[in-house]
Amino acid sequence: MAREPVGAVVALRDVPLRALEGGRGARRARAQRRRALAIGLVSDAERAGAWTNWSGAIACRPAAVLHPRDDAEIAAVLARAAAAGQCVRPVGSGHSSSALCATDGVLLALDHCTGIERFDPSSGRVTVRGGTVLHDLGHALRRHGLALANLGDIDRQTVAGAIATGTHGTGRALGNLSSQVVALRLVSADGAMRDVGADAPELLAAARVSLGALGIVSAVTLQALPAYRLHERTERISLTDVVARFASEAAAHRHFECFYFPRHGFAEAKALDPTTAEPASVAGVEGERIGWSHEILPSVREQKFHEMEYAVPEDAGVACFEALAARLRARHPAVAWPLEIRTVAADDAWLSPAYGRATCAISVHQDGRKPHEDLFADLEPIFWEHGGRPHWGKWHRCDAKRLAGRHPRLADFAALRERLDPDGRLLNAHLRALLVG
Ligand SMILES: Cc1cc2nc3c(=O)[nH]c(=O)nc-3n(C[C@H](O)[C@H](O)[C@H](O)COP(=O)(O)OP(=O)(O)OC[C@H]3O[C@@H](n4cnc5c(N)ncnc54)[C@H](O)[C@@H]3O)c2cc1C
Repeated sequence: MAREPVGAVVALRDVPLRALEGGRGARRARAQRRRALAIGLVSDAERAGAWTNWSGAIACRPAAVLHPRDDAEIAAVLARAAAAGQCVRPVGSGHSSSALCATDGVLLALDHCTGIERFDPSSGRVTVRGGTVLHDLGHALRRHGLALANLGDIDRQTVAGAIATGTHGTGRALGNLSSQVVALRLVSADGAMRDVGADAPELLAAARVSLGALGIVSAVTLQALPAYRLHERTERISLTDVVARFASEAAAHRHFECFYFPRHGFAEAKALDPTTAEPASVAGVEGERIGWSHEILPSVREQKFHEMEYAVPEDAGVACFEALAARLRARHPAVAWPLEIRTVAADDAWLSPAYGRATCAISVHQDGRKPHEDLFADLEPIFWEHGGRPHWGKWHRCDAKRLAGRHPRLADFAALRERLDPDGRLLNAHLRALLVG
């Protein structure tokens, strides 16, 4: 099995920064940067910088990082990059830990394309610009008396970045964030702008989880819910309890998840259910709190970590979790970070890890300062044996060949991508390995 292709990406932790200056790849990147400078694609502040993702494990040296302010500027960036022979990769908050965004061409950030564009109070549908950060959206929706149906572990991602990888929270009846998308606006590699909605169901199903390979998602229309409060209860349980109770607890609660700490031999179980009670009613009760969904679902993660996650069929979830726990205890007893298990409802987005099947999402974590590749490589085959599909935004070693039997619509997605971007302007080495083979 080939290692994850890295292209222009280097692990910054392992390589002194000056080493990035050397070699043929770097010479090509410098030449591209000179070309980009010549056509005015590079801002002064960004001339010299290497880009890194949130964890710091993925780094690249883009020729330019550009911040268009509207669809016309997005189209202009795509056209000018094409003229300069450069790849363009859209980037959100950079919270993915696979090399989806890495490029020595143009990194296109929508941090100037944020906020609510349209809001329809009668349907609860809200159109937000692609660069809007989920945290800001949560607060803005609350002001309209609305909330998203679910959120993941954090809310620092952008809307376009989160849906592009199938980002999800936990809840048997709750799909990932992309399943809340009813329409989106796509600026494809040739600069054409498409409003993709219910009248183009196939394109919408492909573009909801797109890895940023079909075009730039400049706006997303989401189906929101009336704002709701959640009552969270956490308790410490044993691995035996996780195995025995996970399925019934996941069925009993709107949200349920477990974090098992193999080194310490216990798990934290977290259940959340809607409530109309006031936060004060549980003040001082250990392991309980009440709050608005957008405040209580996301955590703040200050310590950097590496993560591998796979989506396995729901009925294989607990067995897979047990097998991972056993291997962690037997071969990696020093790992202090948790093994996490959540549930996600089936959906119909072509590249969604939950496509067509109810899912358990299982994650392995490692301290961001410690080596993670050997650990993850030792555990990854367990996911494969349990029918796992990788989280696109986390560490994995899959390529098109390995994915073929796992993602029923992968070939359809690859063909659509080829039609929309025949010159591969939006592809980097990582995406080529996944989508071109
Ligand atoms: C601390 C932490 C906690 C996390 N918790 C969860 C969790 O609970 N559940 C979960 O599922 N995942 C989780 N993740 C993973 C994370 O949600 C995904 O990797 C997500 O895609 C990151 O969003 P982003 O805005 O940072 O996008 P980026 O990582 O910057 O980009 C992700 C993808 O989106 C594409 N993209 C970005 N903007 C656009 C655009 N405008 N148009 C088209 N494509 C675009 C990029 O090209 C790339 O392919 C977590 C990650 C971290 C670091």
